[in-house]
Formats: sequence, structure tokens, C-alpha cells
Amino acid sequence: MPVSAGTSVTGQSPGNRPDAVISVSEAREAILAAMPAFDIETIPVGSAGGRVLRQAVVAERDQPPFDRVMMDGIAIAFGDFAAGKRRFPVQSTQAAGDEQQVLEPGKCIEIMTGASLPRGADCVVPVERITVAGGDARLEDGYVAEANQFIHPRGSDHGLGAELLAAGKRISPMDIAIIHSAGLTDIDVSRSPTIRTISTGNELVPAGAPIEPHQVRMSNGPAVVALLRQHGYTDCEHDHLVDEPQLLEERIAAHLAAADVLVLSGGVSMGKADYVPQVLGKLGVDVVFHKISQRPGKPMWFGMGPQGQAVFALPGNPVSTLVCARQYVLPALARSAGEPDPLPEFAALAQDVSFNPSLTCFLPARLVSGTGGQVLAMPVATNTSGDFTALSATDGCVELPLEESQFPAGTVLQLHRWSMRA
Ligand code: AMP
Ligand code: MG
Repeated sequence: MPVSAGTSVTGQSPGNRPDAVISVSEAREAILAAMPAFDIETIPVGSAGGRVLRQAVVAERDQPPFDRVMMDGIAIAFGDFAAGKRRFPVQSTQAAGDEQQVLEPGKCIEIMTGASLPRGADCVVPVERITVAGGDARLEDGYVAEANQFIHPRGSDHGLGAELLAAGKRISPMDIAIIHSAGLTDIDVSRSPTIRTISTGNELVPAGAPIEPHQVRMSNGPAVVALLRQHGYTDCEHDHLVDEPQLLEERIAAHLAAADVLVLSGGVSMGKADYVPQVLGKLGVDVVFHKISQRPGKPMWFGMGPQGQAVFALPGNPVSTLVCARQYVLPALARSAGEPDPLPEFAALAQDVSFNPSLTCFLPARLVSGTGGQVLAMPVATNTSGDFTALSATDGCVELPLEESQFPAGTVLQLHRWSMRA
């Protein structure tokens, strides 16, 4: 059954105020261009997981740092084998971590995985292919050895000074291993921004407090904090402010003074209690744009504070808040942290969709596998941008471009997963 991604357009149309409504791509570019780079800090590698590198990591030594034995067994000179020798007096034993020994002509050294190859040896015979008796190691009948077998040559993975990790990489557990292997105890990363989220609205009541029939549970702020924390931004606090200009001014001023980034929800539309843009203006936050030709989230406001604080004022409808947080706040934070822009991801629509109102649509969708293994996006109706309970079953949104209105099943669209981390 075809899905309609929505019909009613709220707010003003671009036709009424063309200068006030910008496109999704213009909004993205304006935000990314405005975001300042976060400072660099040096921290112990042990606490660097999940942070963004602000330095390159280069190899301290060749890898492997010596010709590394790859099997438990014996090390021999291949020339002896080639000359027909099959029984070798055991000269000594050399384990991983032992100093390199020198192989005497015609003999073998018992050798362990990870040891450095004894000087004079150029062939390792695995322990399964030998028997040791009376101080001699004897090769299995018919065993065929090859020169240099089971030897991992020095520098064959990379050489000293090779760049192992580039600045901008978000540090994974594998990267922690690499940084340790490079001998580093401390590392330069992006400072984690201080983020304040603020829910505005007289009608909002937090969980745990008594609620009247005409009131609404406050859910946006905690959801945005959770989204930010999921992406590694741990310094997040949430505040709730009522729609009262004087109070908004005082409290937002305090948050601006304390934070690198503010994420507000609510109070940015055209209602009489929508004071947020005017209060931000009074506090010296310069508006970069107000309104994007998209649904949900059209009334979004973005500006820069006097000390370079990025201020995202998101519409309060819960679906709008989450879509805008994902589409604009997360990529902006990644840019400021120094991460390269992620490669775009795509999915094919699992069913026909129509969407008419000349807006870009972020359509929540669940991902399913197609018969050929391709990723299909199954639209999930949210009725209005306030119906957020359906989002739990979604993996992200597909982006329906503004130029089209009919999207047949199979149409390939850009996919924005809720989580930007693979
Ligand atoms: P606003 O953008 O302030 O006009 O809010 C739009 C709608 O979203 C209203 O129905 C609000 O009650 C609702 N809303 C605003 N903020 C929140 C919030 N923090 N949690 C849940 N719903 C909210
Ligand atoms: Mg409100």
C-alpha cells in the first residue's frame, strides 16, 4: 500500500518569505562552515577510546621489528635441507622475547612462535613435522620444506615512520592497540565539548512529577542527551525552562557562558510563546538561519554566540527535535572534532511513497534486507511530527528530495541512520 509521507504544511511557505527559508543542503553547509574547531587536549591513551585524534600516529619501529618466527618448531638453514639433510642436532632453545641466537652449521634451534629468527637460519619447520629423540630433531618422512617458510620478514607490515593513523580518526579499540604499539602513553585528541540541552515550554512536566491532563511529559531533552552520549559526547546536561522571556534570557545567558554548544528544543515557531529566537538575539547570538524547507523540523533556528558557541534551536515536536539533532547537531559536532565527513549511505524504498509539499522530507524508516541482499527502507508512519513512539522501531530516516513528489518502490535514497557510528 502506498504511503503518504504527510500532506499539511505548517508554518510559512518559501513562497511567502523566500529569504527566510533555506534548503537542507544550504542549512548543512551554513552550519558546517560556522562550526569552530574544538581545542586540542593531550590525554592518557587509556582514556582515549572514542575520542577523535588530532595528531597522526606513526610507527615507532619496523613491523615486525625482526624476522619473526610464525610457528613453534625448529629453525634450520634451508641449504642443509636442500642438500638432503633430515636429522639436525638440537643446538638450543629460543622462545619469544629471548635474544637472537646464532645457528651453528648443520644444527637446528628449537624455536617458538613470536621469537626472532636465529642468525644463519632461513627456514622454520613446524613442531608437528618433526620428532625429537636423543638430542636430534628428525623431519617427517617425505616432508618438503621451502626456503623462508613460516618467517614473517622484518618490516613487511610497515616500516618505521609509516603513518598508522591519521588525524581525524575516532579512536576504536583496534586504534588503541595501534597507539600502544607506537609506544605512545599520551595522545592529542579533540577536547570534548560542553553541551547544554534546554527544553522550553510551560506545558512540559518531567517524569516523576505529578501531571495534569493539559500537560505534556518532557521527553526531548533527555532523548537529545542520550543521542549525544551515544555518540561519545559525555559532557551534556539538561535544563527545562518555561516560556517566560526574562527567565529565558537569564538562564540561557548562564548556559551560554558555560557551554560550547547549546541545543534547545521548542519555542522557535510562530506562536506567541515562541520567544527563543528573540531571546537568543538579545544575548548576542547571531542568527545564521531560521527555517529550513524540510519536514519535519521546518522552524529550526541556528546561530553563533559571542564566544563562538554554536546554538541549535530545534522545533519542539519530538520527531522534529530528533530528526534535526541527527541531521544537523551530530554532523556539526563531528566537524568541530575534526572528523572527516562520513560517506553517504543509501537504501532503496521498500514501497511506494508520495510526498507533495515542495519540502525535503526526512522519512523515518526501518531497514530490512531485500531478496538480493540489498538494504531496503520500510517507511514508518509517524502521523504528525509529534508522534514519536513509532520512531523506536526505526533505524533512521531516508531523505526524499524536494524536487520530486512520487517515489516508487525501489527508489534509491540517502539514508541517515540514527546512529552515525558504524
Ligand atoms: P514548540 O516547538 O515549543 O511549539 O513545541 C511543539 C510541540 O512539541 C508542542 O506540542 C510541545 O508540547 C511539544 N514539545 C516541546 N518540547 C517538548 C519536550 N521537551 N518534550 C516533549 N514534547 C515537547
Ligand atoms: Mg513551546
